[in-house]
Amino acid sequence: MSEAGTPDGGLDFETLEAVLPRFTGAGPRYTSYPTVPVWKPSFPESDHARALSSCGRTGEVSLYAHIPFCRSLCHFCACNRVITRDSDLPERYLSAIGQEIQTTRSSVEGTPQCIQLHWGGGTPTHLKAGQIERLFRSMTDSFPLAPDAEVSIEVDPRVTDEDHVRALAECGFNRISLGVQDTNPDTQAAIHRIQPFELTRALTEMARNAGIPHINYDLVYGLPHQTEASFSRTITEVLSAEPDRIALYGYAHVTWVAKQQRGFERIDLPDPRLRIRILLQAIRQLVGAGYRFIGLDHFAKPDDELCEAFDSGTLRRNFMGYTTLDGVDTIAFGPSGISELPGAYVQAQKNLSDWFDRVEGGRLAPDRGIWLSRDDEMRRWIIRQIMCRGRLRASEVESRFGGSYQVDFEQAIDGLREIEKEGVLVLSPEGDLEVTSLGRLFLRNVAMAFDAYLEPAAEGGARVFSQTV
Ligand code: SF4
Repeated sequence: MSEAGTPDGGLDFETLEAVLPRFTGAGPRYTSYPTVPVWKPSFPESDHARALSSCGRTGEVSLYAHIPFCRSLCHFCACNRVITRDSDLPERYLSAIGQEIQTTRSSVEGTPQCIQLHWGGGTPTHLKAGQIERLFRSMTDSFPLAPDAEVSIEVDPRVTDEDHVRALAECGFNRISLGVQDTNPDTQAAIHRIQPFELTRALTEMARNAGIPHINYDLVYGLPHQTEASFSRTITEVLSAEPDRIALYGYAHVTWVAKQQRGFERIDLPDPRLRIRILLQAIRQLVGAGYRFIGLDHFAKPDDELCEAFDSGTLRRNFMGYTTLDGVDTIAFGPSGISELPGAYVQAQKNLSDWFDRVEGGRLAPDRGIWLSRDDEMRRWIIRQIMCRGRLRASEVESRFGGSYQVDFEQAIDGLREIEKEGVLVLSPEGDLEVTSLGRLFLRNVAMAFDAYLEPAAEGGARVFSQTV
């Protein structure tokens, strides 16, 4: 991508405002390719074990744990979560995930080091401090933690206290992502998530004082009652706490997944034009404050590792969004966790009871999954080049995969020539592709040209993906 780091982000906001409405259809987020809706249901346990057996060939793995519990339901949320105040449930979960880690470990050959560890949810800090330490030990006893590993966790400031922070720091967590969403009280009331910004700021300071050096904030635009002015105040507050990274997600109205979102149709969701203006205003403020626009929805301070990964071509996109460390297998634990293994993706049972039944019986718990064909591997590589580097070279595709790029992707290139007219990318006569600074918001749309499954998936159920912008 060109000019990603210029102080104003290299963005021509007037043109962007004119172009944006033409790119507001539904599309995948490309945290995987092929995307989850086309994976096969009932992925066999023997296939899961086979994929695990060759993982960590590089001697390194990335580990993920999904902690599904939340104290209350945020009405915008489409995550896999279990709302509970039952204190016995996390205890049972900890024993079960310990068992799952053992079962998984016995399928993996050698002893790969963990160079990246991430906990998501749900709310990982729904666990008590002692439970956090237990889960951390379970994972790192089986997969030794590299001394310079990136160790990160998603936290909800409403339920995270000093004991949690101390436990996280002692375990060695070096990055925490705080769910903020929006600081406007009207929006917070509508999404059923009351979180005064002072709570967020206090947790940020507590984490820094405890020696956790890196702080991420997650924001959501397109929520009820948001206006340009209200979200601008949110961004101003957020900037005052100086997080290292900011993820700015578009609210995904996916009522077929998250039924509670239906309530929003009666209240004040911003219309598509306002949604776009809110987004543009937010980008303006963030790049104006010196954050680099990494692409799609991530912003980072110039000295953050994400910028280094972007510059060195090692930026990676997976189920955690944009991250560093390209090319490392990911092993996931917990219900709905997604593993990215050599030649395959596997997602665990989403339903907590089904997951308990499997892992407590000493079994792996695959639900959906897919073995990648050679064509899948090639398209995945191309889509990653677009999503993570904003560029593609025909000669690189051919030297990696053989064949003729221009012949094999004639249809995709023709489709791209159409959107080239909008100024979001530049194509050479050979089909080399460079996303412009304007096109950074439309990486999903560009990548969609190479998605071989998109039409069949849409026919099978048009309501599969969220809005691209
Ligand atoms: S947004 Fe986070 S805290 Fe709220 S319900 Fe979803 S996972 Fe739980």
